[in-house]
Amino acid sequence: MENRGVIKPMLGTHYPMISHGKGIYLYDDQGKQYIDGSSGAVTVNIGHGVDEIAMAMAEQASKVAFVYRSHFTSQAAERLANKLADLAPGDLNWTFFVNSGSEATETALKIAIQYFQEQGITSKTKILSRWTSYHGITLGALSMSGHLMRRARFTDLLEDFPAVSAPYCYRCPFHSTYPGCGLQCGEDLERAILEIGAENIAAFIFEPIIGAAGGAIAPPPGYYEKIQEICHKYNIVTIADEVMTGMGRTGKLFGVNHWNMTPDIMTLGKGLSAGYTPMAATIVSDRIISVIKQGTKSVMSGHTFSANPLSAAACCAVLDYVESHHLVHNSEARGEEMITGLKELMMKYAIIGDVRGKGLMVGVEFVSDLMTHRPFPAEAKVGEQFLSICFEKGLIVYPAFGGVRGYEGDSIMIAPPLVVTSAQVKEILNIMDESLSELMTRLIASGRY
Ligand code: PMP
Repeated sequence: MENRGVIKPMLGTHYPMISHGKGIYLYDDQGKQYIDGSSGAVTVNIGHGVDEIAMAMAEQASKVAFVYRSHFTSQAAERLANKLADLAPGDLNWTFFVNSGSEATETALKIAIQYFQEQGITSKTKILSRWTSYHGITLGALSMSGHLMRRARFTDLLEDFPAVSAPYCYRCPFHSTYPGCGLQCGEDLERAILEIGAENIAAFIFEPIIGAAGGAIAPPPGYYEKIQEICHKYNIVTIADEVMTGMGRTGKLFGVNHWNMTPDIMTLGKGLSAGYTPMAATIVSDRIISVIKQGTKSVMSGHTFSANPLSAAACCAVLDYVESHHLVHNSEARGEEMITGLKELMMKYAIIGDVRGKGLMVGVEFVSDLMTHRPFPAEAKVGEQFLSICFEKGLIVYPAFGGVRGYEGDSIMIAPPLVVTSAQVKEILNIMDESLSELMTRLIASGRY
């Protein structure tokens, strides 16, 4: 019996010891192979064990691994920031480096508030966000997260930032259908602004495609154009949380690229370093930075490890790899194959209510009734059962349940590394087919279906 060690997500549970990885595969110390169908936490975009990244890191570490951002900058950090300025839309030209997605959203919150303070506007301190969202686990980021399960224990410490309904067509909060709905989900932002008062609101934060809280939920056409228009009307900064959707995951370099919208601030994490090192970023527009530059000059945020050269060098090498291997295109093409294959499985298994997503951020929602979209009872733990059946068969999929208001939910995501091949997509679909068959058998045997 262990009496010390790493605090694992489920205490007392055995976690396999991974010895190495290559491409989409991971191997444990017992020799078992797993397909990393979730890229870890939708992170390892370029796949495991890429030698170019290890070499770039070794080279940087042997030169200088760390300099403190208050004293120095580094070639690696400047190169990465320049690269991001080239790639990011509009005038998103300035990057503040941090170490996790949560820190990136915290930093975005602070920059948005500071932007107004520098102009003498001190009342704009609230951040609007949506229900069915996830922006991180630290208290500021959790305040912005409309993820009931993750908020539950800490509600007394949190700000009530989630005030806007999610654009979740499969379970429309307004019981409407697109396009007849007139985009009520978009109008809900204006309702919340009028209720809270635009003079109190600094920013609106959103995941371009909802990830952990709901499972690859993309809004209907026209939604983000409407959001942008409303935010401009009320002088509210837009923050696109691209921590999960960024760096090619959705078949475009950034999630917002699917729509005609340019945010004022964009956060990145996960795929930026593809998991080779902890790294995240808050990218800020010229407009906002120039106001701070004319004011106190200093962005009031920062961490010891911010912009460290070692992580920056790893990210530069990851970005080069994404480009040279055309991974954004591969994400789009393999994502289409994955969705087509899952839609075929949907015909075979009546518990699949919805298949959705873009690129290789693909969601599957389980329901007990196809017509009414009635979910399974929470205690049936259908999503969890599916995850563990897949795990047994050597396929990792991502849990996206617990984040929807008023409903436990049984959504999961398939999000393999963007290097996945057509043959490997088929391999994943085959294991899903077998796992679905086993899940059905279990549900029927237990009288749940
Ligand atoms: N934003 C989004 C959209 C995320 O998906 C996540 C992580 N799942 C975060 C923020 C938080 O990132 P981290 O876990 O690196 O703090």
